Amino acid sequence: MIKLINGHEKIRDIIFPFLHWNGSRKLLQCNAAPFYDTEGRFLGYRGTNLDITENQKILENLKLALNQAEENDRLKTAFLNNISHEIRTPVHAIIGYSTLLEDSGQNPEKRKLYTNIIHSASNQLISIIDDIISMATVEAGQEKINLSEFSLNLTLQNIYDQFQLKANEKGVILLLDKPLEDHQLMIKTDQIKLVQVLSNLLINAFKFTKEGTITFGYHLKEDVLYFYVKDTGIGISEEMHNLIFERFRQVDTSGIRQYGGMGLGLSISRAYVKLLGGDITLESKPGEGSTFTFTIPNVNAIKKMNPGNSLTGKEVVSVPDDKKTILIAEDEDLNYLLINEMLSGNHWQTIRTNNGVDTVEMCKTHPEIDLVLMDIKMPEMDGYEATRLIRKFRKELPIIVQSAYIHEEGRRRAFEAGADDFITKPFEKTQFNKVIKLYLAKKQLIRTYNI
Ligand code: ADP
Repeated sequence: MIKLINGHEKIRDIIFPFLHWNGSRKLLQCNAAPFYDTEGRFLGYRGTNLDITENQKILENLKLALNQAEENDRLKTAFLNNISHEIRTPVHAIIGYSTLLEDSGQNPEKRKLYTNIIHSASNQLISIIDDIISMATVEAGQEKINLSEFSLNLTLQNIYDQFQLKANEKGVILLLDKPLEDHQLMIKTDQIKLVQVLSNLLINAFKFTKEGTITFGYHLKEDVLYFYVKDTGIGISEEMHNLIFERFRQVDTSGIRQYGGMGLGLSISRAYVKLLGGDITLESKPGEGSTFTFTIPNVNAIKKMNPGNSLTGKEVVSVPDDKKTILIAEDEDLNYLLINEMLSGNHWQTIRTNNGVDTVEMCKTHPEIDLVLMDIKMPEMDGYEATRLIRKFRKELPIIVQSAYIHEEGRRRAFEAGADDFITKPFEKTQFNKVIKLYLAKKQLIRTYNI
């Protein structure tokens, strides 16, 4: 601009910073032309200085929004590519190995191997669907908190038991750090969300750790629980520490897809932790492992010296030998067969109904029924209504609602109707039997999550 002025040239749309007398910084856009006296001597400039500070801010915000939109677009494309790959992999395994299973004749080892592969591919598929649904409900602001009181150590122990298998397979050491081991620490928070966050972090820890140790645990300070999941894996560079909590973000964008995943686990985890009033942070360096820490405040922690009557899958339960009768309310033949098969080997008698009306009637006319496994979606009358009606005349009868719906709403409605517990299909046989035994032993079970 100085150059233009010195040369007495026209000034067109030149933007320059300006310090206002009140101290604020402004941006001015100058348009001016030199003017001269009658002898042609330069007198100065005539023109306008337009204050464009606000416009400029708007422009910058628009640019940012555009960049963000382009970045979102890129992430969405990456997500769609990932999801297609993530879904195809287990589906191909299921199709491929079920064909092999058909052809495997009577070779028991092969059959076992193929069945295991089909089983784990199916679980993988379910967890992908769960993640997508969780993400959608979080984004729609539909995710609700469901508070219940439960034993922290026992919940963590259950998680530990599930991941221990993986640790053995991978040759990685898994440690659970429970500083309040000797007490029965009861806390009040959303158990399902807590378990999901810890599971997501552990799944990642296993995915990104080839050897060494994975430790998870907690400590309690002034009614705030501090959880951590620490691994000796590949680590994460500083510039990715915040970004990886955004949906669809992954450190590895090389397209080789060495580790798989959809980039949803951490964003769901962060959303859950925030819903519970806490925060999640990361400490990590490439090659030196990672430690994810999150807090959950106001957990109403109570230390009970006596575990009391809370039960978990860890407890050895002996069911009296007299014959037990279980009513399976299930309209889908395949589901019924599966449940019946899972209960086999216990010498229990099972009866089946395939709609809500018959289920209520059966409970009325058969006082020998010891437990009901209640499906939700049934013709004529759904499982909620059937549960509600049965509760009117059999208050003590354990009713376990079983459903493929993972949504909180279903769980809440089941408990409101009077169910004792809610389990999500597909079940894992051992855990399923443990829950049934617990109720048959007429003890009170901590409401379990997703077995
Ligand atoms: P996903 O694991 O499905 O890709 P996440 O949201 O759980 O999605 O994780 C996002 C990314 O963060 C991962 O792809 C990975 O690059 C990085 N990450 C998460 N946890 C770890 C860990 N324990 N060690 C190394 N990198 C991790």
